[in-house]
Amino acid sequence: MRRFERAHEAGVELILALGVDAASSRLAVALAERNERVLAAAGVHPHDAQDASERSSMNWRSWRSTAVVMVGEIGLDYYRNLSPRDQQLRLLRRQLATAAVRASRSRCHAREAHEDMMPLLEQWSRDMGGRLPDGRPLGVLHYFSGDADKARRYIEWGFVISVHTSVTHPKAVLLQEVAARHVHRAPGVETDSRTARRSGIAVSGTSRRTSARRSLRSRS
Ligand SMILES: [Zn+2]
Repeated sequence: MRRFERAHEAGVELILALGVDAASSRLAVALAERNERVLAAAGVHPHDAQDASERSSMNWRSWRSTAVVMVGEIGLDYYRNLSPRDQQLRLLRRQLATAAVRASRSRCHAREAHEDMMPLLEQWSRDMGGRLPDGRPLGVLHYFSGDADKARRYIEWGFVISVHTSVTHPKAVLLQEVAARHVHRAPGVETDSRTARRSGIAVSGTSRRTSARRSLRSRS
């Protein structure tokens, strides 16, 4: 695990290994169980909804491991529509139910799907009392693509808004407004260095599927 030691020496305190399907979730859990500086998120991405059977998405060993601190990546993607929307919705509801049972935070992907995502997360927030039992946020809206009003509502429901590095692009006016008005209340940053390089801003970071947050240290 030399690469994790090197990351730690460079100042990375924790790494969250994200699952996006059954295989990658098992891998994330295996990594986390072998390394104290790695935590795991287990979930099925909406792109894979049509391949996710009830059994494979709910009965993994992954869900039961104490290394799993987050359910994700889950969500809705109506931009690419790689799985039918009804199957994406069904899978998202199941995974939010799993997150509720585990009292786990969630990592949510919403692309051109806020109309369906918002009522689901509003209801989930109401069911959870707006916070996890330990008082921390319910989850993160990653790579946020909505406007400032949507960001305000997600934050009120108990979520963190994660702004991606396209915010540095001169044309990213909506995202800049989100960042200016709301991100100080619920901050998250995607360290997607490939995009950042295109916009001419130097950002050092990890890969898109890897992030570290001090607040994840306590496993739930
Ligand atoms: Zn995503």
